[in-house]
Amino acid sequence: MTAAARTPASFPPDFIRRLEAALGRPIVEPNDAKAYLTDWRGFLTAHNAIVVRPGSTGEVAKIVRACAEARVPIVPQGGNTGLTGGSIPYEEEAAVVVNLGRMNKVRSVDALNYAMTVDAGCVLQTLQKVAEDADRLFPLSLGAEGSCQIGGNLSTNAGGVAVLKYGNARDLVLGVEVVLPDGTIWDGLRGLRKDNTGYDLKQLFLGAEGTLGIITAAVLKLFPKPRDKRTSYVALRDLDAAIELLVRMRSATGDQVASFEYLPRNCMQMALDHIRGVSDPMEKIYDHYALIEVSRTADEDAGFAEHVETALGKAIEDGLVIDAVVAQNQAQAAMFWKIRDSMAEAQKEEGPAIRHDVAVPVSSIPAFYREARKRVLARVPDARIHGFGHVGDGNLHYNIAPPRGADGKAFLSLMGEINAIVHDCVAEYHGSISAEHGIGRIRRDELPRYKDPVELALMKKVKAALDPLGIMNPGKVF
Ligand SMILES: Cc1cc2nc3c(=O)[nH]c(=O)nc-3n(C[C@H](O)[C@H](O)[C@H](O)COP(=O)(O)OP(=O)(O)OC[C@H]3O[C@@H](n4cnc5c(N)ncnc54)[C@H](O)[C@@H]3O)c2cc1C
Repeated sequence: MTAAARTPASFPPDFIRRLEAALGRPIVEPNDAKAYLTDWRGFLTAHNAIVVRPGSTGEVAKIVRACAEARVPIVPQGGNTGLTGGSIPYEEEAAVVVNLGRMNKVRSVDALNYAMTVDAGCVLQTLQKVAEDADRLFPLSLGAEGSCQIGGNLSTNAGGVAVLKYGNARDLVLGVEVVLPDGTIWDGLRGLRKDNTGYDLKQLFLGAEGTLGIITAAVLKLFPKPRDKRTSYVALRDLDAAIELLVRMRSATGDQVASFEYLPRNCMQMALDHIRGVSDPMEKIYDHYALIEVSRTADEDAGFAEHVETALGKAIEDGLVIDAVVAQNQAQAAMFWKIRDSMAEAQKEEGPAIRHDVAVPVSSIPAFYREARKRVLARVPDARIHGFGHVGDGNLHYNIAPPRGADGKAFLSLMGEINAIVHDCVAEYHGSISAEHGIGRIRRDELPRYKDPVELALMKKVKAALDPLGIMNPGKVF
């Protein structure tokens, strides 16, 4: 059977044949397409979409032009690790998923300019390695780094574990190349640190979740490679102590804290229960932990290590820290990180939960945590609060699991109500309902409740100006 004969009824007649003719190659076979049509958590599946995997910016432009002519929706896709459903078409939508995975070349590395120009489909971990081979650092780092792609990272403005020192994905970009919704290619691949010749248009596409165009390449910032790293796993008195310790560590190390991740015991326990090869760094059990990484680019010397250890020692004396282990080698540091990095996987294994990715000012984290907990427990007594994450950035993954032994499905039916409880609380603390994962599909209907109406109206004007046909990832964000 030819691809054209399989055309789902809702694609315009002859569309797939014309798309294949424009590309000079068939679309992805339905059996192979399945992996691209289900989200990472396995909750969302598109039944009526097709998948194309272009090999160049020119091919992306041809696909977009064909879709624009036929008014067919386009869903850009990177590694498909996003957690808000942005890379998956709606169930019955006749859309074209444009997966960038074949566009995976590093175009150039300019070590003197601390920059590299890369295709959008490069896997994040590969880019970290390319930077390292050039004696540089590309600092973006997150649990999905082995499969997420830089185009997806930029389109979600990914955060991860090094934001404290290096910023979000949008801070790591000098230029972009984008295929616009009418198929025009914008070559904005400039490696400049200064360019005040008008609006900073690249920022429009960073964090746009594929709603304004398809990023096909980017110029990324590189940094000096750290020569000295100290990774510590500490048990804390409570969450307030975490924030106090963060402040002390920043000042003791000359603001060289790269990561400050909080884990309560119930989250760490999930990793111990479900992830092979994870073990508890401490003999005793505590309620609160932090994983702290401090790094600097100067060569190793005793002074830096002493600063870290003195700060931790003082925190122990003052009762903020109850126990601490400083990694003695890379393998031990990797083990600490494995606990943190396996959190998404461990939660998947643990069972259903109502998830939130929220930000509040760092100083408000403990008060927010307690208040949201009180309100959730008032609605579902014994619900399990799994709140962990990038507290150094004021970002918590505040997930609520059902009471032990409760019916998971019945609990998930409370999702709307629980979301409102948590997100209303976030709003009271002047926070954000999406710190780093984006809006995608799953937060779309909540956005108008929490976003400033003027800001939302401006966003819609930008969308209408760039994508007047509304074909670029429709139904996502708005
Ligand atoms: C285990 C695990 C850990 C994670 N940890 C973190 C974390 O610490 N911090 C964090 O921020 N996120 C995290 N995530 C979420 C996810 O990895 C990030 O959102 C990542 O940036 C998505 O990249 P991707 O290539 O998989 O994009 P996809 O999931 O394929 O797409 C995400 C969105 O970007 C759009 N898009 C993708 N590529 C392009 C492109 N080239 N042009 C235009 N639009 C495009 C899609 O349409 C979609 O809206 C985690 C996910 C997992 C599974």
